[in-house]
Amino acid sequence: MPEIRLTTESLDTVGVQILNKFRVKLRCAQCGMTWSPVPCPEVRLPDGWWHCPRGCNRHRDAASAPARPAESSQQPPGD
Ligand SMILES: [Zn+2]
Repeated sequence: MPEIRLTTESLDTVGVQILNKFRVKLRCAQCGMTWSPVPCPEVRLPDGWWHCPRGCNRHRDAASAPARPAESSQQPPGD
């Protein structure tokens, strides 16, 4: 999947708007929820930092990501 970056263009692809780039304040374009995944842009962004807390856009990365095995179907290591 394309990496989501802290830019208007990149976040637009996942339905997120930047309210304040310097405080990393984001807003979900769908429900209007606002959140800040990190206190400042210098901090490493965690996985899924652009996900709306309500989950509106969580499917967006799954839809664009290549198929990967479900965690529940993994075989335990051994033998
Ligand atoms: Zn939302």
